[in-house]
Amino acid sequence: MKHATFENELTVATHRERGTLAEFHQSFEDAVSTVEAELGASHPMWIDGDAHEADERFTVTSPADRTLEIGDFAAGTAADVDRAVGAATDAFDDWRRTHWSDRIELFRDAADRIRERKYELAATLTLENGKNRFEAMADVDEAIDFLRFYSRELERNDGYAFDTGEPTPGQHCTNSLKPFGVFGVIAPFNFPFAIFCGMLTGAVVTGNTAVAKPASATPLVAHKAVEILTEAGIPDGVVNLVTGGGSDVGQPLIEHEDVAGVVFTGSRAVGRNIRRTFFEREKSGPVIAELGGKNPVIVTANADLEKAVSGVKNGAFGFSGQKCSATSRVYVKETLFVEFTDRLVAETEELVIDNPREEDAFISPLIDDSALERYERICEMAREVGTVRTGGEVATSGELSNGRFVEPTVVTDVSHEHEIAREEHFVPFVTIHPVSDFGEAIEKANDSSYGLCAGLFSEDETEIETWFERIESGMCYVNREQSATTGALVQTQPFGGWKASGTTSKFAGGYWYLPQFMREQSRTVVSDVRRE
Ligand code: NAP
Ligand code: MG
Repeated sequence: MKHATFENELTVATHRERGTLAEFHQSFEDAVSTVEAELGASHPMWIDGDAHEADERFTVTSPADRTLEIGDFAAGTAADVDRAVGAATDAFDDWRRTHWSDRIELFRDAADRIRERKYELAATLTLENGKNRFEAMADVDEAIDFLRFYSRELERNDGYAFDTGEPTPGQHCTNSLKPFGVFGVIAPFNFPFAIFCGMLTGAVVTGNTAVAKPASATPLVAHKAVEILTEAGIPDGVVNLVTGGGSDVGQPLIEHEDVAGVVFTGSRAVGRNIRRTFFEREKSGPVIAELGGKNPVIVTANADLEKAVSGVKNGAFGFSGQKCSATSRVYVKETLFVEFTDRLVAETEELVIDNPREEDAFISPLIDDSALERYERICEMAREVGTVRTGGEVATSGELSNGRFVEPTVVTDVSHEHEIAREEHFVPFVTIHPVSDFGEAIEKANDSSYGLCAGLFSEDETEIETWFERIESGMCYVNREQSATTGALVQTQPFGGWKASGTTSKFAGGYWYLPQFMREQSRTVVSDVRRE
């Protein structure tokens, strides 16, 4: 197997290695002050290289503190979307004919600009979306990786053009991948910089033009992404930014007849709706969708419990479970069940709930009121049908009551069949289930419509092999103490899901990602003269 190298941007790990973490903390805290001083501004949309106002506006506040106004944003409508798609359509012809080497130069320049502004961007994420500083910087690092990796892939594949030879004398054949046209790019709130930039780069570096829509909770950091691309020299109309609600702006975008393809990351319900719309309108372009997960972890009789407890705790509660990859159900060999659960509960109770701008903060606030209601509803249900071993309450002490902070929650004594153990909740909530043997554990892990991430804790080679062989999951991690299911890196750990967790089973940050944004053209020229 060929091994290709790629250097990930690992800001925190690098500081840790060099013993300069204090510098990281200082730079981050300075950036929070700077960004905070600039909050509250009014932001238009960005169409054809120009600011574009809307009649209505919406206000975004910080999930960590509802009294902190992030900004005031244009609430777009179908008419604005139409204008943006028009601009992207007009820009397509020049952009698709811009040589791929010029396109990647622009994206590499943008990656350098993100690097220069990484503390500002991480601070923006902390304020706008509630990530603690480590998670926020990882989000920015991943965006840099996406821009650099996709640029490298286009280069490594020579812009995806191949000489396919002469089947008979005089017939000269070539094959290449070509862009489709205008892509709708629709992003979620939970990786509002990395996923926004990653999807946008996939669409645009390959020669498509784009109309991008960020989640309504996180438009500020998307504005910064578009600003950086503009400074790097992206031509007018190639990247357009529309803001507003999913049904006001997202729906008209996917329905627009001049939108050739959609790249989407978000919930299964919205993803399905996009697919259905494309099918009903007989659009032939792709719907590249990364959807939810209900990620299982197995702890076998041969597990190292310390690793398992740490991996499950970090996987379930990092960014308060608001990750598609969050650990959400754990199947533990019954003989270890009590010890595992006790230790997990004890370690979970040590996790610090604090404003994410503080150095000690681990648990983040929930993004919006509907997430908070969802948390309260499932905790109530868990108290009725099972046992809440720790957590289950909204955290309201002191200034936390200004935000949407909740306790990380561990639940036992619920059936694997119950909806609280089957549905994705996107809050810090994990159910632990005893199983009699490894076979039952694998069966239950696979008994889900999702297939995004899975974890195994076992020190036994045969069990590990069997698990890899049988687990129905895109991302598979063994004995991962840092996190049982979350935290993939671009290139080494391409990210995506099987089953209902995605529509293409080709992964972000991997080798097969870019070809999805293009269509194949097979060319034959009958002549004696070779074409350049
Ligand atoms: P979401 O509610 O589905 O929203 C995602 C995006 O779709 C937002 O920009 C949203 O806009 C927009 N939208 C809503 N309704 C729409 C419609 N009818 N037509 C077009 N667009 C529409 O997801 P989320 O709450 O932001 O993110 C959480 C979900 O994302 C979870 O299910 C998680 O598992 C999934 N996710 C998956 C991955 C992965 O790689 N597999 C990664 C991250 C997240 P508004 O914000 O304005 O509603
Ligand atoms: Mg949502």
